Amino acid sequence: MKDKVDLAVVGGGVIGLAVAWRVAAAGHRVSLFDPAFDPELVDPVPGRSASWLAGGMLAPVTEAWPGEEHVLELGEESLRRWPGFAADLRAAGTDPGLSGAGTVVAAFDRADAEQLDILAGYLASLGREASWLSGRELRRVEPGVGPAVHGGLLVPGDLAVDNRRLLMSLRDAAQAAGVGFVPEVALEVEARQVRTHASTRGFDAVLIAAGAWSARLHAELADRVRPLKGEILRLRTRRGTLPPPTHTLRAVVEGRPCYLVPRERGELVLGATQYEAGFDETVTARGLRELLDGAERVFPAVAEYEVVEAAAGVRAASVDNLPQIGELGDGVLVATGHHRNGLLLAPVTADAVVAMLAGEARPDCVLAARPERFSACF
Ligand SMILES: Cc1cc2nc3c(=O)[nH]c(=O)nc-3n(C[C@H](O)[C@H](O)[C@H](O)COP(=O)(O)OP(=O)(O)OC[C@H]3O[C@@H](n4cnc5c(N)ncnc54)[C@H](O)[C@@H]3O)c2cc1C
Repeated sequence: MKDKVDLAVVGGGVIGLAVAWRVAAAGHRVSLFDPAFDPELVDPVPGRSASWLAGGMLAPVTEAWPGEEHVLELGEESLRRWPGFAADLRAAGTDPGLSGAGTVVAAFDRADAEQLDILAGYLASLGREASWLSGRELRRVEPGVGPAVHGGLLVPGDLAVDNRRLLMSLRDAAQAAGVGFVPEVALEVEARQVRTHASTRGFDAVLIAAGAWSARLHAELADRVRPLKGEILRLRTRRGTLPPPTHTLRAVVEGRPCYLVPRERGELVLGATQYEAGFDETVTARGLRELLDGAERVFPAVAEYEVVEAAAGVRAASVDNLPQIGELGDGVLVATGHHRNGLLLAPVTADAVVAMLAGEARPDCVLAARPERFSACF
């Protein structure tokens, strides 16, 4: 690659914005295509992206599923980069809202406690702190947890981020670094070119970072990225209600994972359902019931909170739950398929793209996410 590359990024969710910012800050020229960034709007944000909806947990271990070791390694690598990434955004002018309040994973019975014991051992093997709290100890830390909770694992090192502040911070940092926003829908990406309704433009390289929509942009992604629906609720305290928890609270209720992530000004995000439903972005009664039932069991006061927003969106899922970060050939790069962890994985993804453009080595955990892993199977 040349010293100064002319890069197009298609998609301005957390991944496209993070890459565009880091690549522009490294001295390259960047054009970011996303209809969300319409200059006619006062404060444009990618309001229909998964990034705008997300819960905001940066928790590779408590989000990890058995057999997803590569996902976990990549997540841990990115988590290590998060404090520096947030500091760089603050230095660029805006605060992305990173919080180090930590997570409490609640247990309802002995089986849950045994699972958490395994998780605690695993965290210890990674050098991460975690301690078991009895019901009484837990209520001292989080007075609002429900009577059905009999104890929990406190994970103080887990981070969380206010996803909406993050997106605005990334947008502003990208703009300040010289990224050019092109408010157009890309119809096709092919051999260093982006075709839109208005024109076909050529670049040194094009990065596809359009989340679940990436599959529509390049034939090689057609079967490798699929939408996975998720519903989420935003609540707010009212006069006389208990304040939200100070930690992120997580639990598995009737086999379904649920989480409550506190935000500033008494807000609380409840997430998230997970369904194979194509590009359906409808909020269903069943989804809301699942979210509220789970959350109330963990933290009953939510029943009295004001409902601020109920929304649904699509994660970009792949068959092995690992993203695709690498090259498709002919000057086309890809960074998509971040599934449940796109916020967490934004720093490592952006650094990987900067390294690719500079022809530098990427860590092994990033190489595991190369798109070639799919072609190697055939
Ligand atoms: C309910 C829910 C909760 C979640 N919670 C968490 C969490 O707690 N922690 C975490 O790390 N992750 C979480 N995730 C996952 C995370 O949100 C995603 O992995 C991440 O947002 C993916 O970012 P992205 O930039 O790849 O895609 P998106 O955020 O979906 O952005 C894609 C962008 O591409 C644009 N676009 C699409 N097609 C085109 C086109 N043809 N031309 C131009 N632009 C286009 C769209 O307008 C959009 O702005 C959650 C997801 C959901 C749905």
